[in-house]
Amino acid sequence: MKETICTIPINDIFMPKDGCPICRMEKMLEEQYVRFVTGDAMMEPNIRIETNKKGFCHRHFSQMFESGQKLPNALILESHLQEIIDNFMPKKLKGKPDKKQLEGIKTELDSCYVCDRIEWDMRHFMATVFVEWAKGEEFRKLYNKQPFICLKHYSFIMETATGKGGMPSKHLADFHAETAALTKNYLESLKGDITHFCSMFDYRNKGQEWGSSKDSIERSIEFLTGEKP
Ligand SMILES: [Zn+2]
Ligand SMILES: [Zn+2]
Repeated sequence: MKETICTIPINDIFMPKDGCPICRMEKMLEEQYVRFVTGDAMMEPNIRIETNKKGFCHRHFSQMFESGQKLPNALILESHLQEIIDNFMPKKLKGKPDKKQLEGIKTELDSCYVCDRIEWDMRHFMATVFVEWAKGEEFRKLYNKQPFICLKHYSFIMETATGKGGMPSKHLADFHAETAALTKNYLESLKGDITHFCSMFDYRNKGQEWGSSKDSIERSIEFLTGEKP
């Protein structure tokens, strides 16, 4: 399997205690891969073969366009567009549409080189998290002190913990409980803040304090989507 280009020390990811740590990891990988694709990867024929085939999603094309140089972007597109012409366009314009080609287009539109690399790395990163967590107190404390795990990553962690390369079974119940607490406690306090926020528009509550509800819309969006509005 392909090697990662990123080495992420997990303590560095969990140290800041600012938002969801897995979002932080994903963002770090994303930045590194987007830079890599329009940089060093240009010189690697194997990666060019893959990017020609998979292409990129809108989010990652846009990031490459914003952060990369024009020429590498154009070179990537030149060979990717050619590959689409060769594989998915009819040789003759008249005639029945080729089902295989149309299926191929669907697969192409759903695939992204950067998304795939991030996902692969995330699973490996989680394996390290499980090992460190199972080792004992120190990392476990750090893990439990996270402000929250966002909804998307709660589902990702719960799923990867039970799969192959997941958490050793004797720790699984505790790990599930502690991860669920991080998400559920935050979710409940967020819901409380949103309710308070709504109540502030009732004239009968005039003069009350906004308190921590002030930015509860922004924080809800971040919790639900992994990104600040
Ligand atoms: Zn997250
Ligand atoms: Zn993508």
